Amino acid sequence: MRFEISKVLDAIEGRVCTDPSLVRAVLDLAEVIRYQDIDGGRPASLLRLGMVIDALSRELEEDSVQVYAVVHRALLSDADLTSNERMVVRRWADDGLVEVLDNPGDRMLEVADLLGLPVLSRVRFDGLRGRFPWLVEQPGRLLAPVPGAGGPAFIAHVGGGHSPVAGTRSPTGAKLLARQWRCPEPGCALFGGGGGGGAFADLARVERSPAGQPPPALRGGVPTCPRHGVRLGDGGPRPRTEVLAVRVGGLVRRRFVLSEEQPVVAGRAPDQEGGIMLGQWLNDEARRWISRGHVRFELRVGEVIVTDVSTNGSGIRPAGSMAEADRIALAPQQSRVLGEGDMVELYPGVQIGRAEELPAGAPFTPTSVMAEAPTMAMRLPRA
Ligand SMILES: [Zn+2]
Repeated sequence: MRFEISKVLDAIEGRVCTDPSLVRAVLDLAEVIRYQDIDGGRPASLLRLGMVIDALSRELEEDSVQVYAVVHRALLSDADLTSNERMVVRRWADDGLVEVLDNPGDRMLEVADLLGLPVLSRVRFDGLRGRFPWLVEQPGRLLAPVPGAGGPAFIAHVGGGHSPVAGTRSPTGAKLLARQWRCPEPGCALFGGGGGGGAFADLARVERSPAGQPPPALRGGVPTCPRHGVRLGDGGPRPRTEVLAVRVGGLVRRRFVLSEEQPVVAGRAPDQEGGIMLGQWLNDEARRWISRGHVRFELRVGEVIVTDVSTNGSGIRPAGSMAEADRIALAPQQSRVLGEGDMVELYPGVQIGRAEELPAGAPFTPTSVMAEAPTMAMRLPRA
């Protein structure tokens, strides 16, 4: 039982991050874990985060959706969580996967404002509508996770819709995210040189690239570390990035960030650090065709360059065209600049392209982050 719970928590861990390019919604972890009516279980449970993330995946019709979690420091010692759950949250904090704050205040809304993200919360934030007009002007930017027939569903506080709506980064957010920032606090997990700094520093598995730094907090207009409350130093321009997505069988399975700092290899099971592994989504024929490392992506002067590094070769779908006559072969060792709307096709039905240009094209049944959950934890009330 304990082992299975750990596996679920590991799966959920892959869905929390503070990378502005990957997150799709902001939430307050301390609030979400107490949505007792969602499963009628314990007063607090970290598994509810998984249920809410699953609901978000269903609404966005995309797998592996990630969320930006802000959480009060008190959660690290919340007696309503199991010791295992507390240890997991502490590890997430040390790795900079969640933002742990002494006083979260309106940080959640600040992040949503800077990044243009929807907020998942039952709180209405009426007092903050003046500062964040999108709370009212953009129905779907603020949604309450509520119990539904097949797990949590969402209801917008304004307008009553069910789908999260993304906005655009605020001008301030765009400015802040054009720079990289340094926290003077040694080992800062959010704005440090990489890795975490807490009790699990030696075990930190997340090497933070400056390209993936969270948005600084603004205190009196000054970029500040939300965790340590100190002024951040300007570390120069942030490396440029492009968000790519993997689509298999018409479904977007995951997104990844390509930065100009280093290339990314995608394939069946790449050896390279940070490689994108596709094996788990492939059938036998695709697994035989696709090499361990199949294509390499580089970002150079704003252009995405794809190089085939496989045994069997790939193809380009120009402007996303699925007409066979349009398909351009990409022979092993050949390179090509990825034009607007272009997708690389590693094997029929296995494509990679820019995330915003790669809509899901098939009826969607997302893989649950809770797939490993014991049935006991999945007991859901009938609506
Ligand atoms: Zn800091």
